[in-house]
Amino acid sequence: MNRDRSREAFARAKQLIPGGVNSPARAFGAVGGQPVFIDRGEGPWLYDIDGNRYLDYVASWGPLILGHRPAAVLAAIQNALERGTSFGAPTEAETELAALICQAMPSIQKVRLVSSGTEAVMSALRLARGFTGRDLLVKFAGNYHGHADSLLVAAGSSAATLGVPNSPGVTAGTARDTVVLEYNDSVALQRLFDQYGSQIAAVIVEPIAGNMGCVTPADGFLPALRELTRRHGALLIFDEVITGFRVAYGGAQALYGIEPDLTTLGKIVGGGLPLGAYGGRADVMDCLLPVGKVFQAGTLSGNPLATAAGIAMLTSLRDDPPYERLEQLAARLAAGFAAAAQAAAVPHQLARVGSMLTLFFAEQPVRNWSTARLCDTSRFSRFFWGLLERGIYLPCSQFEAMFVSAAHTVEHIDATVSAAQQVLAELAAPGPG
Ligand SMILES: *Cc1c(COP(=O)(O)O)cnc(C)c1O
Repeated sequence: MNRDRSREAFARAKQLIPGGVNSPARAFGAVGGQPVFIDRGEGPWLYDIDGNRYLDYVASWGPLILGHRPAAVLAAIQNALERGTSFGAPTEAETELAALICQAMPSIQKVRLVSSGTEAVMSALRLARGFTGRDLLVKFAGNYHGHADSLLVAAGSSAATLGVPNSPGVTAGTARDTVVLEYNDSVALQRLFDQYGSQIAAVIVEPIAGNMGCVTPADGFLPALRELTRRHGALLIFDEVITGFRVAYGGAQALYGIEPDLTTLGKIVGGGLPLGAYGGRADVMDCLLPVGKVFQAGTLSGNPLATAAGIAMLTSLRDDPPYERLEQLAARLAAGFAAAAQAAAVPHQLARVGSMLTLFFAEQPVRNWSTARLCDTSRFSRFFWGLLERGIYLPCSQFEAMFVSAAHTVEHIDATVSAAQQVLAELAAPGPG
């Protein structure tokens, strides 16, 4: 495949944009090499500026559950465009989207619209701290919650120590207010609550992890989070920026039957435009200005184009649910990948919930960040490039979930599996990689 134009575009971009990209995951750093520059998307397909075509399993990192350019979403954006791009004043559409969100997730009694997942999470954190009057936040290693300072924190040297900055620019003071524990370790959380219970404002979790690859919650993990937070007067925040409207219309909380106090949303809820949301218990949400005293605002919050796209996306998912079909397609893809790896004698683990999945090149089951990081990432890189050369576009890291969309068909899935069979057979063959 010729990608000369992408190569030239990347060189030009790097002169003006740090690393040539506006979000670091796009730079293909984890797999080594040059990113593909996109011209357009249609249904399940991505087209690059050299005219190559790829089956897209990135879906803009999650939002595009209906594939590229779904007719209903495009029509809604066009219709909104006729009336204006931003007003800085309330519109009825915002209430309509709020109603759709609250109906989909009954734990959400009131909701605020913002412009990204990061903004949703950082606002929910401030609210949790304002509501409880407490400072400490608990997160889990390998969960990603956007780039707010409080969450760019890594575990300290012993399990129950407070966090340390995970990026230059995050102050030690900020990091000290965040505790990082292993995902799926409710015993450690119990111990932490025993020691610091009265200081913990909130526990935030990806109920199904999608940012260390797809890692599923162990039996009893989410119920333990619910029980411990309730007992100690801390808030439970489900970060459903990926899982919301993805694993079920009602998100992971519907799938596992757990009601968090607050939920953060992004990705699918914006229908492919920049929109996030956070919501939950009315008594907590009413601590926000202008009702309460916790400050949060946004010039483009509830933007009419993004709101219209979100309404069209959620209405479509509610009235014509793709989830059964997605389950079948993704199960077929997962089974095909696992069989291909098995046939090639490549050690692997396959994790999947609905249409989010990861083929881990790991010997042992992946339950948390400590086990995820043992994956053979150089094998993943060769797998990634082998598939890209065959017109299959995967996330460019072992530690990102891939997504099946409703625009994929059985034929697309089967073509993907047969490409994976070829690549895995080559990977298994002896010789230089
Ligand atoms: C993508 C993501 C975010 C951040 O959302 P942005 O829109 O990229 O700011 C937060 N939490 C989770 C779980 C995510 O996957």
